[in-house]
Amino acid sequence: MATATAPGAVGELIRQRKLFIDGEFVDAQSGKTFGVINPGTGAEMCRVAEADKADIDAATKAARRAFESGPYPKMSNRDRGRMLSRIAALIMENREELARLESLDNGKPIGETMNVDIPASAATFEYYAGWADKLEGSVIPVDGNNLNYTRLEPVGVVGQIIPWNFPLLMLAWKIAPAICGGNTIVMKPAEQTPLSALRFAELCAEAGVPPGVVNIVPGFGETAGAAISGHPDIDKVAFTGEWKTGQIIMRAAAGTLKRISLELGGKSPNIVFDDADIPSAIAGAMGGIFFNAGEVCCAGSRLFVQSGIHKEFVQEFAHQANSIKVGDPLDETTQQGAQVSKEQFEKILGYIDIGKNEDKAELACGGERVGDTGYFIRPTIFDGVTNDMRIAREEIFGPVVSAIDFADEEAVIAEGNKTMYGLAAGVWTKDIKKAHRVAHGLRAGTVWINTYNAFDAASPFGGFKYSGFGRENGKAALELYTQVKSIWVNMD
Ligand code: ADP
Repeated sequence: MATATAPGAVGELIRQRKLFIDGEFVDAQSGKTFGVINPGTGAEMCRVAEADKADIDAATKAARRAFESGPYPKMSNRDRGRMLSRIAALIMENREELARLESLDNGKPIGETMNVDIPASAATFEYYAGWADKLEGSVIPVDGNNLNYTRLEPVGVVGQIIPWNFPLLMLAWKIAPAICGGNTIVMKPAEQTPLSALRFAELCAEAGVPPGVVNIVPGFGETAGAAISGHPDIDKVAFTGEWKTGQIIMRAAAGTLKRISLELGGKSPNIVFDDADIPSAIAGAMGGIFFNAGEVCCAGSRLFVQSGIHKEFVQEFAHQANSIKVGDPLDETTQQGAQVSKEQFEKILGYIDIGKNEDKAELACGGERVGDTGYFIRPTIFDGVTNDMRIAREEIFGPVVSAIDFADEEAVIAEGNKTMYGLAAGVWTKDIKKAHRVAHGLRAGTVWINTYNAFDAASPFGGFKYSGFGRENGKAALELYTQVKSIWVNMD
């Protein structure tokens, strides 16, 4: 089970514990710090400076200065691209260290941080490095003897508030397109996972990012986060997290008419038809819910399996789920690590109890914690679930899936859409026409056909309905970080 990593080694790995403002590591003005917990052991690993309103203000002033003066606004687009490439390269040069730090802080397995989180973060910077010198406006044919053309200009100072499930990757999704567009940044990592963001701040300095362009201010949502979303000199706020927090941020941003983009939760349907390739569909159901211990906003947490194969499918799925190796995040053979925090761990166990108390739902596997230290939960499948049960309606954000029976295509599209969310969905079938019909019928920002959790920095990602608005990744994200200026010239 979870082994405590030697305190000395942890101490060496955690190099930065202060706020990064205007290119310097500084204490919080209040002098306050907060504890960072290792979810694999439940023990405090270190304390980190706690940003509050005054620090957000200092970071915003630095970001405004860097936006308006100094080297950054004069930097050519191509040079901004080169800077993004250097960041990407530095992330990969420090891959192992970042992976260990991320696993310690978040609890996810080292195999995943090494092979998914860190390379995908670097790829995001690489991708936007390529866009920086391709932000073209257009020449518009207008009436009269006029020349009209457009430019894509930065939004200004952007506030970015991110969650704890993919700390460095969520940072990359936000910071890379923001720099690409020429904005400056005040970034608040989640209070549960500030460490990789602080190491990233050092890498920014090493990559030659001018002071004030990227400011990293760990702190709590109600204080530091609220100070960002209400700050009069922040032009835009980008947020990923719970829909209820999104609502609070939207209200706060309204006061100063900030642009906002929100990537919120999900209760995504993963739909398996009778005619699917069953081994691939089982692998997809497994990855869909148990990847990252279910702490994934697009997790396939409602597994719809058609009646003809339902029973055998769930049996084999449960058999494979039982063999997942849950344990020490730093062990290379671990497949599922710890849940991020005690709060999250208890919330998930609470939902498992709710499931157990549903008369018609049956536990097919899991349903309990693993070990007695750290926040580990056995992969859990409930069968016989219906869409009206709480475990099928509410986002659990853990390794808990609800298997739901369905009769036909029309019914599953209707049931799949019967949710407040619309982030993602999966469809498993060998019938290509049916696959596309269902993909078109589902109200979700991403639909995966015969795959699940496929991502690429080039492909847009975001939600319908309560899953938010605005698209991250791809060309689409550049719309969040640029604004169009129309210029007229009298040619008479
Ligand atoms: P969770 O409850 O799973 O941590 P949240 O949506 O609360 O999800 O957190 C996501 C991010 O939003 C974190 O960085 C958190 O600090 C921040 N946050 C939480 N509450 C607020 C708030 N009232 N205003 C701004 N940011 C917030």
